[in-house]
Amino acid sequence: MLIDLRSDTVTRPTPGMLQYMMEAEVGDDVYEEDPTVNALEAKTAALFGMEAGLFCPSGTMTNQIAIKAQTEPLTEVICDFTAHIYQYEGGGIAFNSAASVALLHGERGKVTAEMVQSAVRPNDNLHYPVSKLVSLENTSNKGGGTFYTLPEIATIAQVCKTHNMAFHLDGARVFNALLAAQEAPEAYGQYFNSISICLSKGLGAPVGSVLLGSKELIYKSKRIRKVLGGGMRQAGFLAAAGLYALEHQVDRLAEDHARAKELGKTLQKCAYVSEVLSVETNIVIFKLAPALNPQSFLQKLKEKNILAIQFGPQQIRLVTHLDFTPSMLEYTIDVLKKLNF
Ligand SMILES: *Cc1c(COP(=O)(O)O)cnc(C)c1O
Repeated sequence: MLIDLRSDTVTRPTPGMLQYMMEAEVGDDVYEEDPTVNALEAKTAALFGMEAGLFCPSGTMTNQIAIKAQTEPLTEVICDFTAHIYQYEGGGIAFNSAASVALLHGERGKVTAEMVQSAVRPNDNLHYPVSKLVSLENTSNKGGGTFYTLPEIATIAQVCKTHNMAFHLDGARVFNALLAAQEAPEAYGQYFNSISICLSKGLGAPVGSVLLGSKELIYKSKRIRKVLGGGMRQAGFLAAAGLYALEHQVDRLAEDHARAKELGKTLQKCAYVSEVLSVETNIVIFKLAPALNPQSFLQKLKEKNILAIQFGPQQIRLVTHLDFTPSMLEYTIDVLKKLNF
């Protein structure tokens, strides 16, 4: 038995999901004739109070399309320095959009309206790029699963409105955020111009992300998706997994959060751990004692059939998910308690 806590992307489709995928009605989605893709796009858009959706192969693609569609060269994107769009998308903002980036130094991946306000460039001075788009990440991956509440989002949306900037959400784990904040998705539509949601993280689908926005933005985004090679044909088999996940695998995220908290509690009592970041959702980040080598720590875990990743100097990340069962939790807690160096 291998316990893979490297990421919530490692899940396999459940038997119910596989069955549902195989039974999907499909067509050519480049001709907009795949009923299952159309259903997924309509369902997610309605869920978040947005007009339209666009199914894409990855969250990197939905984020990069949103940035490309809402910026132009000589403009600037504002985000936290830990943001996935900046750190983990291969420099795509420069490559795809030729836009500049203003990095904020938020708290565990979260920025405030004041921080965003202070990064807005004066628009009457040609030395500066034009501030054009603000991107939030909810939950924040590098921040250890921290989440925004709607009132926090609303104050940042107001700054965007005042300065005529588009407002994007990298919602790779937005369902984790909504659960933790006890909020409903419909309200998001009034604040964001674009939302990227991942079906392949906590939701447990094998592939796929959806970009949400106005009809006009999604039309433009569809052209960009085509040029990136993201126009898929009988993609309904994949979209079906997303529909199934939205129906059956959202409420269970509470289990992931509870298990992550248990891991955090255990780690707090371990002598080899110097700090555990407060566990907010399904991500656990902890710091190893200074004398410990992170790679040898990971190796020791691996010998016990548990996989984790290094996440910054001396830091380790564990992510709970659909395939991390109660018995695996029990075993992992036992291993963590007994490890000694
Ligand atoms: C996983 C992730 C994405 C998208 O990643 P893909 O692997 O391209 O689907 C985007 N943002 C965040 C915060 C993520 O964790």
